[in-house]
Amino acid sequence: MEIAFDIDDVIMQSRLLLSDHMKKDYGVDAFNFPKFEIEINGLTKDDVYNYVNQVLYDYHDEIEPCKNIIEKIQELYEFRFYNPIHFITARPEDKFRDITEAWFNRYFGKSIKYEIEFRPFDKKVDLIKERCIDVFVEDRLFNAKSIAPAVSAVFLVNYPWNLNKETPWNIIRVESTVEAIDKFMGAESTNTAKIDF
Ligand SMILES: [Mg+2]
Repeated sequence: MEIAFDIDDVIMQSRLLLSDHMKKDYGVDAFNFPKFEIEINGLTKDDVYNYVNQVLYDYHDEIEPCKNIIEKIQELYEFRFYNPIHFITARPEDKFRDITEAWFNRYFGKSIKYEIEFRPFDKKVDLIKERCIDVFVEDRLFNAKSIAPAVSAVFLVNYPWNLNKETPWNIIRVESTVEAIDKFMGAESTNTAKIDF
C-alpha cells in the first residue's frame, strides 16, 4: 500500500510555534483551539490566514519535528525498500517550497528520498487519487473527511482542533504520526488487504 503524509502537525510541530506567537500577539491559545481555523477578534479569515503563514515563514527554522518522527520515517523508508516518502501539504508553494525543503534537508539530510507536493487543502484529494495513495496521515478533520472516500484509511492524529467530532469508519484516530506508521507497518507485515481494527 502507498502511504503519504501531510506536513504541518503531522511531521512538524507547527501549531506549537504558532501558539507561542499568537499568545504574545493576540492572547489567543491556538494550540488548544477547538477548530482548525483559528479565530481572532477583529481579524478577518484572510487576516488570520496571512498572519499564520507569516509567522510560520518568519520563524520556520524554529519549528520542531514531531516527537521521534524523523527516526520513524527513516524506519518506514527502509521498510518500504527505499521508495521515496510522499508528503502533500496545503502550504502555498511559492512562499514555502524553499524553506520546507531546507527544513527536510536539515532533519533528514540524505537519509531518505522524498517528494513534497503542494496543493490547496480542497485539492489534496485529487492529487491523492492521481498518485494512487491508499493511506494518508492528516490532522485536519475537514481534509480527513474529504480524503476518506478515496483511500483505504486516513489516520487522523488527535489534536484539540479535531477532537469530539464524529468520523467516518475509515478514519482511524491515533495519538501520533509514529503510532500511525507503526499501525501501517503492522498491517503491511501481516499482509492484510486493508487496515482493520
Ligand atoms: Mg496539517
